[in-house]
Amino acid sequence: MTIFTEPDQAEPEPSEVRPETHPRPGRLTTPAALIEAGLAAPDRLAEFEAVGERYAIGLTPTLARLVDPADPADPIARQFLPDARELRRDPAEADDPIGDDARSPVEGLVHRYPDRVLIKLVAVCAVYCRFCFRRERVGPGSGSLGPEAFAAALAYVRARPEIWEVILTGGDPLTLSPRRIAETTRALAAIDHVKTLRWHTRLPIAAPERVDAAMARALALPDKTVVVAVHANHPRELTPEARAACRRLADRGVLLVSQTVLLRGVNDDVATLEALMRALIEARIKPYYLHHGDLAPGTAHFRTSIAEGQALMQALRGRLSGLALPTYVLDIPGGHGKVPVGPQSVRPDGEGGWLVSDASGVERRYRDRLGRDQDRAC
Ligand SMILES: *Cc1c(COP(=O)(O)O)cnc(C)c1O
Ligand code: SF4
Repeated sequence: MTIFTEPDQAEPEPSEVRPETHPRPGRLTTPAALIEAGLAAPDRLAEFEAVGERYAIGLTPTLARLVDPADPADPIARQFLPDARELRRDPAEADDPIGDDARSPVEGLVHRYPDRVLIKLVAVCAVYCRFCFRRERVGPGSGSLGPEAFAAALAYVRARPEIWEVILTGGDPLTLSPRRIAETTRALAAIDHVKTLRWHTRLPIAAPERVDAAMARALALPDKTVVVAVHANHPRELTPEARAACRRLADRGVLLVSQTVLLRGVNDDVATLEALMRALIEARIKPYYLHHGDLAPGTAHFRTSIAEGQALMQALRGRLSGLALPTYVLDIPGGHGKVPVGPQSVRPDGEGGWLVSDASGVERRYRDRLGRDQDRAC
């Protein structure tokens, strides 16, 4: 089966991704363009060029408008403008920081947990985040999964009834045209045991106008659960346009969850995280994961310690509705998977009971199995 057919030459699709031959108007993809747009001082050109030779650059007009060039600590600029520190590599950092390669039985597919697989449909994004954990694998010219490889991934899923969920990622899979998204959706929906499709994307934030009615139609399915996991790191990213894009998806029955990366100088303070989680819920997105920064090359300046992350989670719990709390997770290097690393709220008291910390950190004594003890006493 051919899934990714080329677009009809007579009717080119306006939303087809061809970053090099057909740049989208206003999208900034070179060091010179970032400076001409006034996002940084001209004396940073050489620095941007040095980083640009190594890692992809991309910023959409929507996000560029959010940058305040007068603020040297601007949290949006920090996420997207190249920085010389990206060229410093810590020995612990790795091209494949979460060990995808060790769990990839066929090209483009990662099978780490029994009931779900991840398929990397494309290697391009609308924006290139400076801290990306797949930064060595994404960028213009890296292309999408070819038709044969996609067919092989589908065959792998079809042959394994234990696969209940398929996660579409990349790069950013929503950079595909609605037609290709609909083809992918249909092909996966035809597999009976696949009950859930999950798309990981930054597009509703980065290019909300592209998450239009046609894309919402292409994603939605009547008989399966469709989840869109929106990557957002700062409350300012939830613009009215981004919220409208999310509403278009939610109105089609798509379940929206979020992913946030904990980033030094972007969102590593409780007020920013609180505002972000509230903005997500207001946009009908359930906060899902707060990721501890992965060991991607040249990202040490973005990483916090786990202790800092735990203190932030503890503070959030005292401030936010339970609905708005994400789970703080670490993806263990080497392909060992994600584990919650949030603050521990319970520990044994040494006498068969427990000490449980409340939201302000005060430990309270708790005894479980009381009924059982009584049973034994009688
Ligand atoms: C992150 C990830 C998933 C999804 O994990 P959840 O905990 O279900 O969100 C699945 N497969 C791979 C390979 C992953 O890296
Ligand atoms: S959108 Fe996602 S895949 Fe693309 S650069 Fe950002 S973090 Fe990486």
